[in-house]
Amino acid sequence: MQTRTALVTGSSSGIGLACAHRLAASGMNVMLHGLEDEIFGQQLCEQFAKYPVSCAYHRADLSDVSQLESLISNTLSHFGGLEVLVNNAGIQYTAPTEQFPPEKWDQIIAVNLSAAFHTTRLCLPHFQQQGFGRIINIASVHGLVASVDKAAYVAAKHGLIGFTKVVALENAAAGITANCICPGWVDTPLLNDQITALAVQNNCSTEQAKHDLVVDKQAYPDLVKPDAIGDMAVFLCSDSACAINGAAMPIDGAWSAQ
Ligand code: NAD
Repeated sequence: MQTRTALVTGSSSGIGLACAHRLAASGMNVMLHGLEDEIFGQQLCEQFAKYPVSCAYHRADLSDVSQLESLISNTLSHFGGLEVLVNNAGIQYTAPTEQFPPEKWDQIIAVNLSAAFHTTRLCLPHFQQQGFGRIINIASVHGLVASVDKAAYVAAKHGLIGFTKVVALENAAAGITANCICPGWVDTPLLNDQITALAVQNNCSTEQAKHDLVVDKQAYPDLVKPDAIGDMAVFLCSDSACAINGAAMPIDGAWSAQ
């Protein structure tokens, strides 16, 4: 069987990096992506030399549509095909709505929502032609429920889940699935600012703040491991998952069960 290829946006760190590792370990070529320079990208690719697959790295700012278009065209030309698109890159900023800087709103909507629309619209003709495609959008529990101070993030993630359902409906008969994974608190650098702010606010250690952050929302009292998200991505690419379509799957320690 021909080796499949996956593009994972934001795979220089955190959940995206874990998804890239798990997909490569499952036998897929991987296009790695991030904001970091090509030297960083080469070092990143070396981490993947242990897998019997090909890897490459492409730098692109996903808030710039022309850079995003180059990412897709370069992925297709470099690997000669693409079967799996993981829209993972995302950013966070917290502030009450009336104090939320408009430029932060625009940036979060661009990276967390609009980028997934653009990568998807560019990949779909290719997926439709080959009669196969897997689109995996890393949304969040904040695509299902809200929290204070996260207007842009919550709006983007709710939007991403809605968008994913439309893509699933439009392409279900073409061998293409589109699903969201909705993590709770995952152990990645994205949480650093929030943990630091809580440690200052509560005058406690970083470890204590991490624990307090988690148990405030999750019944499961620990951070979710990035590999758990990667393993779900691998499963969504399997034949057994061909009828899982338009779903928003929580991996959130029962956060959204409340
Ligand atoms: P992270 O900060 O570790 O990684 C973010 C990635 O996105 C990096 O590779 C970075 O280069 C990339 N990125 C950021 N801005 C970009 C831009 N303008 N253009 C291109 N790439 C850009 O974060 P993470 O925690 O691994 O988050 C990954 C995804 O998971 C995000 O969509 C996030 O919303 C989601 N998520 C995270 C958590 C969590 O607790 N960490 C929970 C739920 C959902």
